[in-house]
Amino acid sequence: GKIVIAIDGYSGCGKSSTAKAVAKALGFTYIDSGAMYRAATLHFLNHYLSPSVPHDVEKGLKTLEISFQINPDSQKQETYLNGLNVEDEIRTMRVSEKVSEIATVKEIRKELVSQQQRLGKKKGVVMDGRDIGSVVFPDAELKVFMTADLETRAARRQQELLEKGDMIDMEEIKTNLSERDRIDSSRAESPLTKMPDAVEIDTSNLTFEEQVQQIVDLAKE
Ligand code: C5P
Repeated sequence: GKIVIAIDGYSGCGKSSTAKAVAKALGFTYIDSGAMYRAATLHFLNHYLSPSVPHDVEKGLKTLEISFQINPDSQKQETYLNGLNVEDEIRTMRVSEKVSEIATVKEIRKELVSQQQRLGKKKGVVMDGRDIGSVVFPDAELKVFMTADLETRAARRQQELLEKGDMIDMEEIKTNLSERDRIDSSRAESPLTKMPDAVEIDTSNLTFEEQVQQIVDLAKE
């Protein structure tokens, strides 16, 4: 059968890394919907296009092509924007600070949601984001809503950025995470919300292995 696992939740809860590991454990395809909003944001930034100008949005979407490719050396999935590898660039603060604003734009969401639905037509898929269980795959067999306290999330994110050589102040990270949560939860278009049929997992006091195992166990039920 077709199995879809939708993982939604606040920024920096470890959704992506968890979803990736769950997909690997189950032999499923992992799709990072946030990477698509990030790539779209980079595209708008690179071309000085404003998300509040309708003509800019139209122009931006017409020239936007996002894809994923596995790096043969690391075996990691990387994001491409119009043929260029942007995996590192989309994780920088420059993009993080703008992405939630871009993600409020109805036309941009419409386009990315339909691309995500197309990508999800595989046999087994784990997709993480903010509206996967509500809009992209409302019929997903398993929906997970991940949470963690802000302090924990910021510390994990700082460590991730540090591993890439990006030294970012803890306060700046906390501000960015809570600001994104605020915009994501209050936007008019498919706001972030826990679906009634989603299983909530608070990862504040779980190890990475534990949170992966919990979802894998739920998937096998
Ligand atoms: O998942 P990640 O934190 O990389 O997502 C970056 C941003 O993209 C989120 O803060 C949110 O504004 C937006 N997003 C979204 N819907 C999704 C995935 C991401 O609005 N499905």
